Amino acid sequence: MILDSFRLDGRVAMVTGGNRGLGAAYAMALAEAGADLALLCRSDPQATAARIAATGRRVVHVPADLATAGPAELAAAVETVVERLGRLDILVNNAGIIRRAPAAEITAQDWDEVMTVDLDAVFHLCQAAGRLMLARGGGRIINVASMLTFQGGIRVAGYAAAKHAVAGLTKALANEWAAAGVNVNAVAPGYIATDNTAPLRADPVRAAAISDRIPAGRWGTPEDLMGVVVFLASDAARYVHGAVIPVDGGWLAR
Ligand code: NAP
Repeated sequence: MILDSFRLDGRVAMVTGGNRGLGAAYAMALAEAGADLALLCRSDPQATAARIAATGRRVVHVPADLATAGPAELAAAVETVVERLGRLDILVNNAGIIRRAPAAEITAQDWDEVMTVDLDAVFHLCQAAGRLMLARGGGRIINVASMLTFQGGIRVAGYAAAKHAVAGLTKALANEWAAAGVNVNAVAPGYIATDNTAPLRADPVRAAAISDRIPAGRWGTPEDLMGVVVFLASDAARYVHGAVIPVDGGWLAR
């Protein structure tokens, strides 16, 4: 039956930044679909872990700071998941940061930090997880893009550059790995109410301009992204490769 192909029983997923915001929703969605979870977070993701445990799934915390962890530490993080949960089937590269400033005033430090967390760490984790998945003959990688994968945004040049690159990376990896049964795709959330967008929602002019342009007539919530991540992680998406799927209330259609 088609709905059975969305089940993730027996699979193991790792979600970066699974402690709050969209990452917590992705982790919950995967757990509710049957997967055990590794949460790669800087601090102990107690609240999300407790909610996952309540579903009956196993959950472990893999500590790492993506701003400072290099390729070797990230490869070790992937190994830790295999040691503690037995395998790794699904990687969700969710953690990300944004730094808002006029392009003429962005500091080199802010530029580097955005690139390190939003792009470099994504590649290193894709590579480490991808090696395992290629050797085993299958797996799912879901990167997190943005509306600023398609648009330039305002006062967020580093973030837009990194999120454009996430789409390029996703497609490049899909081209190389699809034939080996490793599906690499991305989800592009629209304007979602999380800490990431709190400054926008606190600015009455920007907040109104954004909601006025969303055909659905409201900001998104993390729960609005739960279905797409389960789909991309599941057998139902077995022929989906290199896609960047907007979940944006129609923002890009406007
Ligand atoms: P958020 O609420 O600000 O959460 C960001 C997450 O990333 C947190 O779990 C945070 O962990 C983690 N993180 C940041 N820096 C890290 C680091 N150095 N090491 C490890 N973890 C780190 O943001 P969000 O809205 O949920 O965004 C999640 C993803 O969706 C990001 O990639 C973002 O760019 C993308 N996105 C969001 C929106 C939106 O409208 N909200 C739209 C498009 C795309 P800590 O709790 O330790 O800080």
